[in-house]
Amino acid sequence: MNARSDDDANGTCGDCGRRETAHVIQCPIDEERRLDLCADCYDDRGPGIEICHIQDSEWDVDGTRAEPQINGLGERHMNNTAFPAPGWLGNPHEMEENTEVERWRVLKAFKEDLMQKVREDEFFPYHLGKVRGKRVACRCRSDTETWPGDGDPCHLDVVHAALLGLY
Ligand SMILES: [Zn+2]
Ligand SMILES: [Zn+2]
Repeated sequence: MNARSDDDANGTCGDCGRRETAHVIQCPIDEERRLDLCADCYDDRGPGIEICHIQDSEWDVDGTRAEPQINGLGERHMNNTAFPAPGWLGNPHEMEENTEVERWRVLKAFKEDLMQKVREDEFFPYHLGKVRGKRVACRCRSDTETWPGDGDPCHLDVVHAALLGLY
């Protein structure tokens, strides 16, 4: 089922209850979990992040996994790399095939890791907060695709939803 439906047009803001939804914060792994916000309430909660493709020349933060520093070791990612080393925001869970189920699996695993990291890591929440308002790059989807909408969700959509307090 497509998450975008007619009720988007006349939805009410989840914070103030006014009938002017301007932004939808959609959980990439749970279709039922979403927050409709009017422009004012979105500004109050935000900013989240703007997600773009790594091949864009204009981005502020690299959100992808990084090559290992030593050949033969695995890639660097959120669970083995600390800010500001490349990879610190990368998803530890890699897709093994390009299917919707597999995408859901790696996003779900990322969300669990992210929440644990926010709870248990001394510095991570601070650095995560610093990406607010930035353009953050991944390679999950092209920059012409949007989410929710016509694109596949990316692990950075989980980061965005988390920053806006969906979880
Ligand atoms: Zn509102
Ligand atoms: Zn991604």
